[in-house]
Amino acid sequence: MRSIRTKSDIHKTKAILIALALALALMLPAFSCGDRWPNGKIGVAVTILPLADFVENIGGDMVEAMVMVPPGRGPHDYEPTPQQMARLSKADMYAKVGSGVEFELTWMDNLIEQNGDMLIVDCSVGIELLDEEEEHEEEGDHHHEGADPHIWLSPINAGAMARHICAGLIEIDPANADYYKQNRDDYLEELDDLNDNIEDMLAGYTNRNFIIYHPSFGYFAHDYDLTQIPIEHEGKEPTSPVIEEAINQANEHSLQYVYVAQQFVTTHAQTIADEIGGSLLEVDPLPADYISSMEDLVVQIAKELE
Ligand code: ZN
Repeated sequence: MRSIRTKSDIHKTKAILIALALALALMLPAFSCGDRWPNGKIGVAVTILPLADFVENIGGDMVEAMVMVPPGRGPHDYEPTPQQMARLSKADMYAKVGSGVEFELTWMDNLIEQNGDMLIVDCSVGIELLDEEEEHEEEGDHHHEGADPHIWLSPINAGAMARHICAGLIEIDPANADYYKQNRDDYLEELDDLNDNIEDMLAGYTNRNFIIYHPSFGYFAHDYDLTQIPIEHEGKEPTSPVIEEAINQANEHSLQYVYVAQQFVTTHAQTIADEIGGSLLEVDPLPADYISSMEDLVVQIAKELE
């Protein structure tokens, strides 16, 4: 036989080379282990603890959540560490609150620069933002950019956020879509029960006012027909007239508690509590275990209602 290559042999060789190159290109992501979440799970970064809880409820064994604002810290002034930035560079997805939380306003661009491959999920899409405080709007302070960012403290909003997280996970890992959908539906049912329980627990009270240092419970108050009276306005320490006004309102509604959160500075909260002959009560606006913490929270708020 002649050993010279025919034209069709050359075509075959070319075709094999192209196929090999394609195969290699497809395999490349698997080889760049340096960019992968260490334990083989889907790494999901989130801004605040309740979002980590939502991610874990929906992603189950497939995911690991990484929270940027750690326990005990608030999302209004926290700065990420270099270690967090390094870890973030391997995340597959970032679930942001999306409602104007200061941490995200300040850091989101840097975080995306750190890891351009992350799927960014905005959990606030479709949620109607409330004004933080209508009467102070004209001051134009940048804190919260006018809208109240604390959307997660409404269980109804939490359900919307869980849906967005589920959609993000399915986009990253479509093979397990049924698993995520089932977990989502189970969790939505738990949130529904929570909503019913809260309505029951808060039913029948006519005095529905409460004083809180940092106004985190605007959406919660809105959902359950309560009135949140804040002491801190737009992240500013209260002035004497503001303190005076809080004391007047407390007396008018015969309030006996001032709600505070461990994550935030609460200058003058004790003074106000002393003035009204009441006491401080701690509530957690960044619950790591959302459903049980929300039920605890309602027990605390109900102490004030009459
Ligand atoms: Zn806040």
